[in-house]
This record gives sequence, structure tokens and C-alpha cells, in this order.
Amino acid sequence: MSEKYIYDLHEGDATMRNLLGGKGAGVAEMARVGVAVPDAFTVTTTASVETMKRGGEWPEELAPQVAEGLKRLEERTGKVLGGKDNPLLLSVRSGAVVSMPGMMDTILNLGISDETVPAIVAESGNERFAWDCYRRFIQMYGEVVEGIDAHAYEDALTNMKARKGATLDTDLSAEDLKELVQEFKQISNDALGGEWTSDPVEQLNRAINAVFKSWLNPRADVYRKANGISADYGTAVNVMQMVFGNRGETSATGVCFTRNPSTGAKELYGEFLTNAQGEDVVAGIRTPRPLAEMSEVLPEAYKQLIDTMKKMELHYKDMQDMEFTIENGKLYLLQTRNGKRTAAAALKVASDLVDEGIIDKTEALKRIEPSQLDQLLHPAIDPHHGTEAIARGLPASPGAAVGEVVFDADVAAERGGNGEPVVLVRFETTPDDIAGVIVCQGILTAHGGMTSHAAVVARGMGKPCVAGAAGIKIDPVGKTLTIGDRAFKEGDVITLNGSTGEVFGKALELIPPQINEDFKKVVGWADEVRTMGVRANAENFEDASKARELGAEGIGLCRTEHMFFGADRLPAVREMITAENSEQRAAALEKILPMQQADFEQVFTAMKGLPVTVRLLDPPLHEFLPNLVEQSLLVQKLELTNAPAVQLEEARRTLAQVKKLHEQNPMLGTRGCRLAMLYPEIPDMQARAIIRAALAVLEREGETIGVEIMIPLVALPTELKTQRAIVEAAVKDEFEKAGKELPYTIGTMIELPRAAMVADQIAEHADFYSFGTNDLTQTTIGISRDDAENGFLTTYVMDEVLPKNPFESIDVDGVGAVVRIGVEKGRSVKPDLKCGVCGEHGGDPDSIDFFQSVGLNYVSCSPFRVPVARFAAAKAAL
Ligand code: ADP
Ligand code: MG
Ligand code: MG
Repeated sequence: MSEKYIYDLHEGDATMRNLLGGKGAGVAEMARVGVAVPDAFTVTTTASVETMKRGGEWPEELAPQVAEGLKRLEERTGKVLGGKDNPLLLSVRSGAVVSMPGMMDTILNLGISDETVPAIVAESGNERFAWDCYRRFIQMYGEVVEGIDAHAYEDALTNMKARKGATLDTDLSAEDLKELVQEFKQISNDALGGEWTSDPVEQLNRAINAVFKSWLNPRADVYRKANGISADYGTAVNVMQMVFGNRGETSATGVCFTRNPSTGAKELYGEFLTNAQGEDVVAGIRTPRPLAEMSEVLPEAYKQLIDTMKKMELHYKDMQDMEFTIENGKLYLLQTRNGKRTAAAALKVASDLVDEGIIDKTEALKRIEPSQLDQLLHPAIDPHHGTEAIARGLPASPGAAVGEVVFDADVAAERGGNGEPVVLVRFETTPDDIAGVIVCQGILTAHGGMTSHAAVVARGMGKPCVAGAAGIKIDPVGKTLTIGDRAFKEGDVITLNGSTGEVFGKALELIPPQINEDFKKVVGWADEVRTMGVRANAENFEDASKARELGAEGIGLCRTEHMFFGADRLPAVREMITAENSEQRAAALEKILPMQQADFEQVFTAMKGLPVTVRLLDPPLHEFLPNLVEQSLLVQKLELTNAPAVQLEEARRTLAQVKKLHEQNPMLGTRGCRLAMLYPEIPDMQARAIIRAALAVLEREGETIGVEIMIPLVALPTELKTQRAIVEAAVKDEFEKAGKELPYTIGTMIELPRAAMVADQIAEHADFYSFGTNDLTQTTIGISRDDAENGFLTTYVMDEVLPKNPFESIDVDGVGAVVRIGVEKGRSVKPDLKCGVCGEHGGDPDSIDFFQSVGLNYVSCSPFRVPVARFAAAKAAL
């Protein structure tokens, strides 16, 4: 049997979305439940897919099936396409499976021609109406089917209006429009170099084909990419009898939502225009009127519309976005779909529908996108700003920032600290900039990617960041930021949109974050459903408290190196690094210990009652020392200027140290436990600081945290065995000195492929595993996380060599497989081994879905991602 490519209106229903497209399934369903819909048939998505496969050729059976479908439609309506007596007019509409509003094309009034126009005049008794339909058709058909430039028609219309002294299209008379039709025909003929086809049956086939093609137009392509819709689906084509909203004052066309799509409020929302067709409402030529006014103009149709809206919302159990047309007082529905809505509206609608008993909580969770929650956690730019962006970078950390440009982190720290709104603009940021970063409104960098330092830090603090804006030039010395031909000096105001990566050359209005009762309620439902825990990555009191407030159930990653960068401890840290023997080193560490302890006490106080995973020192030591090139230059300069001998000596000694510690490939060098293997004094000191802090908090607060000590960058079982022994000895000693004990565990980070491969051997020495997926991605794929986004990775993602940035969303096939092996091997030895993840992926919904599937116990992410992660974990568990 040959494939069925055509479905008549009454053959379809809501479940046939994949075949009939959203629009086709929607109108069929409305017809099925007794709503007035113009009669129609739908060409299936399969027909469009087959046509794509054949390089644009229709499958053989399609044309005859269209002809039969048309014949049946003619029989049902008693009208004939191209008929001189009772002509059938059609709309040919595109309908994708996933709604892509306005991305593809529609042709209205097909069937109107020199032959049929007299009958339309006679039947409607309205000459103006007939010629209005005709000129609209020629333009739409010319544009969509023949690819003729719209300007040609629009200019002719504008000239006509000027000639006739008309302001609105509706001011043109029947005679004017008749003239316009002749002009339009001429335009089409000129463009095509001959007679364009006026046979409606052939026009129909060409129109269907044009809709097929519109699936692949650049606009639709961009939309599909942005929304992750596959190009393979193809589009359905709905061929529908025309109904006319432009037949006079008892006719109208409009759009309505069953609830307010901005706020979610249950209220009337929509617009209409009398004596208008199709695009007139959205095209902005005439100002549409609020729907409420329709109750006066067309009371009967209004009442019916309100009833239909209620009916369809209950039927679909979701907010509907509907299109309708009223012809001579009779209401027809042309489209219904689940309405697109803002994040705030999504929450309100879901929560109201649950209250109204229309859906249950599980269904409500399914309806909300985790990324929508994220929008609500940051002040946002007023969407109606209407301002052009002057530059673009990566949307590294969502939210909006308005402030004065500042080029220096110290200036940012000072001015921001005084409460002035500043935006830190840097070529790239380094850990040294942190003080400025903390108090600025947002960060703009010319270099660096989504996991660059600036981005990670910014996300952690919920601070907007646009990173790697390649089009900007920064002169930190002359203190200017140049974008195109505009130069910004320190103090000039810019706005960043960290959610889109846009930069604006002035202050834009902000609207505050919208965490409200709906938000709390919905995230609360998520907690009832999810099985994975959600922790946060935090290393100070503020972040930890914030995380807890946002629902974190512990800390999955407390990085200790950040604690070494503080100005008060850097000298001691440098002393430790430059120590010539272990006594000197121990002495320096002795100075650092109380500072570390104080830091831990703060975090532990914020998190008391909950577990905290403290990771021992990870970065390469040279990060604590001056840069090699800069230090060499400094020595040269001191030599040339005959600087005092002590100063020169000091600079030379430092240079020697820097040289000694310099590595070509520091990310694969002496970091993590490798450092601790060389200098066991470091983990010894850190373990002591952790235990002292935990005991102190217990003493002071009557309650302490669950201590989890984590050894980083382990590749070899012996490394963990050795480190474990060092930590255990230090802890034992501290317990003895204190005369008190508390429970603690020791685990490791799995962030090297080898560690995952031998996870069964490592598990013998580990109480828990935490997958450090940032480094694991870097080491598994072999892409430097600090450089790649400025180079090939961006191209790879754009060209779809890679489906997405693996630092944002886990590479399931590669890095994911390594995680899976790590979990399985670890649990083959210790079936209850607690496994979590603490990379940036811990806050990414798609990655969270994957982590659920490999059976991780928890995810850990930046404090501001915690609600999103709670929510995504619930969706993953559904
Ligand atoms: P989109 O997917 O861009 O919304 P549609 O296929 O819904 O495109 O068509 C655009 C507009 O054309 C509709 O809003 C409607 O006003 C008008 N239209 C489509 N089909 C008909 C019809 N059968 N009768 C009258 N107007 C129609
Ligand atoms: Mg539509
Ligand atoms: Mg790491």
C-alpha cells in the first residue's frame, strides 16, 4: 500500500502532532470536539521529509493524493477551486511539529483570479473586499512561491496611497484596489520575465512546495538551532478553506491567550481588528483593539469565543494561544497551541492549574523548563528596551548589569566597595581581580570563554558576565574601551546582558528578580520528587549562606586555594612556596593554619548540620608567584636603574623561584595531590585546620558539619593511599590534642581518565567519589578549558562538529562514559560508595539528567544554580 500523505480535517486529532504538525493536529482536535474550524486537509510531515530526501522532487503518489484531497474538500464545501460560479479560496499554511511562530510561510486567498473574482464580488456583494483579497494574494504568492522581493509590492501600495491621498490601506476604494491588482500582476510578470501561472490548481501545488521549502529558510534554520529542533522533522502543510475577517464591520480577526502570557494571571488577554485579514493584527499597520472591546462590537461572537477559550484550555489542560476570525458575525477558530510564556508566567500558570485541580504536581513540573527558573534569579533587562547592542560576547553568566566602565580591579574594588555601580572591563580576569569582581555589577572581558575564570566566578556569585567579546578593544593604560567607532572612557555607562551576551552603550532599565511564592512552591514540589541530592560549591560564609537559603543540602566543593589568595595570607603562602627546607615550610604553614581554620569556621558555621566536602590544595604553585615575564622585566629594570642592592637581590631570588616552578603545561603539572605528595606538610596543615574548625564550631554552636576531606587530581591508587595516611595521622593527632573526636570521611575527586579506569583500585582507599567534570572534560577530550573557547571550540560548536560546548553540558558519549565507568568500577568494590559531581555541569539540566541515569547521589553547583539543579533533578527523576 502506498503511503498516506493527506489527512482530511476529520481524520486527525491531537495525538497526531508528528504527522500533521502542531497546527494540523490542533485544528483537527478542535473540529473533533465541536469547535467551528474552516474545513481543511493536511499534507503530512512525511511528505515534506520524503521531498527533502529526493532533493526537492515530490514522491510520486503525492500530487494525485493532493488532487483527491482537494476534490473531497470541494465536495464537502460545495465549492470549486478556480470555479467561475462558487469559487473555493484556500489558505496554505506551514505547520511544524514544534511550534516555530512566524518562521515559515503562509499564503492566503489562493484560488482568486481574473476568472473567479467576479463570482466573489457577486457572492459577497462587496467589490472592495474581493479586490483587497486579490491584491493580498498576488503579493503573498509572489513573495512566498516565486521569491519576488516584497519591496516591489509595498512601494506600489505606498505610491498608490500617496496618489489617492490615503493614509490607511482601508482608505483605498474598490477601484483603487483593482488598479493595484493590475500593478501587482505587472510586478510579478516583470520579476518572472513572463506570465506567471494563474491556474489555481497549479498554484496550490506550487504553494505546498513553497511551504516545504520554507522549512529550510535561513530564519527557520537559526530558530531551530537556537531551540535544538532537528531539521529532519520537516513541516506539514495545512490547506484550509478561507474565512474572511475583512468582509466589513461584522467581520474581524484576532489573537487571544487564555491567560496573561507575561504574568500568568487568569485574565482576558488578546487583540482583534474588525474588517481585517491575517497579518493585519500583528503587522502593526492598524492598532489592534483590546479583546474586551469585542463584547460591545460583536457580542455573540465574543461570548462564543470566551466559551471556546475556556473549553480548549480545559481540554488541553494548559494555557492556549489561539487565532480566530469572525466572518459576518460567525466565529471560526484557526489555530490553538500551548502559549509561549515568560518564566514568571510559566510558574504562575503551573501553580494555578494545580490549585484549580486541572493538573497534578508532576505534570506541573514537566511543563516548566529549568532554564526558565534561572531567568527569575537575576535582575533582568526590561524586554521592551528597543536598543541595539553595540557588541556581543559569550553569555557567560546570566543577568543584567548597568554601571560605569572601570578598567582596573582595584579601582573597581574601591568604587564598588563604596556602593558605586561599576562594570569591570578587562582583557581577561585573574584570581587577583577577585576583590573588584565581588563588588562590581558585572564583568566584560575581551578574552576567555564560558568556563573562563571570570565566567565561573561570576556564575558562582550570580554576577552577570559577558566573556570573550572579540569585537571590543581595551586599552588598560589609556583607559579606553573601543567598540566600533565609539570610545568609552572610565566612568561612561554601559549595560551588559549576561543572558544573551549583549553589550549596550548606555544604561538600560532593569526589572528586579522575580522569586516569589510560585517559585518557592514549584521548587518545593521538585524536592518531593527528586532522588539526587543538591549541594553547592562555596568557600566563604556569604556564598555558603546564600546556597543554604536557596536550598542546598550541603557543600559539594569547598576549594581551599581561593583561601590562599587573600592579601593577608599571600606573603605567608609565598614563604611556604619559596621555603628551602621542610622546617622553613612548616614554619610558614604554621602562619597559614589559623587563617585557614578561621575560613573553615565561617563556612562550617553557615552549613552546620549539613555535609561539607573540603578539597585540599589544587592549583600549581606558580599561580601564587609573579608572572615569569613580568618578573624578568622587573629584574632588568632594577639592574638598569641601579636600584638598591637589597631590592635587586630580592627580585632576583623571586625570579629564580619562579623559574624553578615554571612549567610548560601547568594544568598537567604539579597540582592537586602531586603537590601534596612532594610537600606532605601542606595536607597535614590543611587537615588540622579543617578538624580544628569543625571542633570549634561544634563547641560554639552545639552542632557541626559532616566533615568530608577530598584529595584532588588522583590518578594512582598509591597517591590516595599515601594522602589518606597523612590526613588520618594529622586528624588523629588533633583529636588527641583536643580530647574530642567527630566523624569524618576521606574521598577523592575523579578528574583524570586513569582514575576512572582504576576506580575499583582507588575505591579501596576512598569513602566517596566526586567527579570533577571540568578537569575530566579537559583531560578526556584533550581540550584546554582556558583556551579552547577562544579558538577552535567556538567554531566546532558553530559548525556542529560538536553538538554543544562540552564545558557547559557534559559530553555524554565521551566524558559521560568515563563517569559511568568510574561509578561502576567504584561501586563494584564498595556498592554503597557515595558518588557526586562538582564540576560546572552540576548546574546544567541536561547534564543533571545524565547524572541521574548513572546513579549519582548528588550534584553540586554554584549557589545561584541550586534552585535550577533542584528542579532539574526532579525532572530527571520523573
Ligand atoms: P503562523 O504560523 O505564522 O501563525 P498561520 O498559518 O497561522 O501562520 O497564518 C497566519 C495568519 O493567516 C493567521 O493568523 C490567520 O489570521 C490567517 N489565516 C490562516 N488561515 C486562514 C484561513 N483559513 N482563513 C482566514 N485566515 C487565515
Ligand atoms: Mg498562526
Ligand atoms: Mg580540578
